[in-house]
Amino acid sequence: MTSLLLRNTRPMGAAATDIAILDGRFAAPGAPLPEGTQVIDCAGAILAPGLVEAHTHLDKSLLGLPWYRNEVGPRLIDKIENERAVKVSLGLHPQVQSERQALLSVSRGTTHIRSHVDVDTEHGLAGIEGVAETRARLAGIVDIEIVAFPQSGMMIRPGTAELMDAALSAGADVVGGLDPCGIDRDPKAHLDVVFALAQKHGKPVDIHLHERDALGAFSMELILERTKALGMEGLVTVSHAFCLGMADRAAAAALTEALAEARVHIITTAPASTAVPAVKELAAAGVLTGAGSDGIRDTWGPYGNADMLERAMLVGLRNNLRRDDELALAFDICTRGGAAIMALPGYGLAPGDRADAVLLSGETLAEAIVTRAPRPLVVKGGRVVARAGAALRPAP
Ligand SMILES: [Zn+2]
Repeated sequence: MTSLLLRNTRPMGAAATDIAILDGRFAAPGAPLPEGTQVIDCAGAILAPGLVEAHTHLDKSLLGLPWYRNEVGPRLIDKIENERAVKVSLGLHPQVQSERQALLSVSRGTTHIRSHVDVDTEHGLAGIEGVAETRARLAGIVDIEIVAFPQSGMMIRPGTAELMDAALSAGADVVGGLDPCGIDRDPKAHLDVVFALAQKHGKPVDIHLHERDALGAFSMELILERTKALGMEGLVTVSHAFCLGMADRAAAAALTEALAEARVHIITTAPASTAVPAVKELAAAGVLTGAGSDGIRDTWGPYGNADMLERAMLVGLRNNLRRDDELALAFDICTRGGAAIMALPGYGLAPGDRADAVLLSGETLAEAIVTRAPRPLVVKGGRVVARAGAALRPAP
């Protein structure tokens, strides 16, 4: 039985206490600890459940490779076509790249990752196989959930739906989708395939929806209709959902209400470049919201560092969150929100919960977000996996 005692730590910024971990789970206060229990002095640092990276693309980060000079065109389809074409020449090996990014996440206090992974007729299941291998290699260090993601479209590239089916049979956890109108130009066919795969494999759905304004609202309505018709309430997520940032706030409010009713979740990356879902409105309506980095250092863009505290700051900046209770919402989105969307069992700091946690420097959670100091300690399943901002396992 493994045991660990975190001495002088402040759960969620509350008063300092000692927290014991037994056999990978938080122990009840006063529980007897075995001889030889490892004791760590936390020096008053805040203890929080592990950060949750609820939307990224582990298979295509360029971390560790030479700098990529980005000269890609402005449209979404330019980025998609370019990436598919240069993957091999850049030496983008899905297993190696995903392990590099996942370990960077671990160093920053992330204990759970949902990664969309490309499935297309050019590279087949290479991405899925690579990320699945990383998931196995990093078992006990970080949990990775795989979304089979038709990045290049499904209806416009015959054969992709069959590969999506194979990816789900091969261990993908979630059915992905992408801009049913904007990329596939056939929303009914695209969504029928996505939801049929979800039904066949008994898996949840997470759809990238970049479509803005009325077009995005139309796609979202189609997603809501199918969610309700198939009894999939609570099992469907829309990532990005830029349409919720539309200027017509009455229409956005009606959509938000419909999302709450169908228990469809939202994952935001809070980009600075476009209108985004308003997280306070989503919270007020009861829509579960998570957050993610999206692509990190890839052919789409040079940004990203896998730090979900920084994402909390970006959610705050994008939504004009200033008050401490508002920053608490941003932190909640980057932890509990993503965890609830991914239905992670035993997530939290209560006795019996899984000991997946991070120490944060700062007087309060809000200060931790603002300063984003290196994480003193990251614990996964009761074992230390990172210290002083560095993962214990070296990256490949
Ligand atoms: Zn994405």
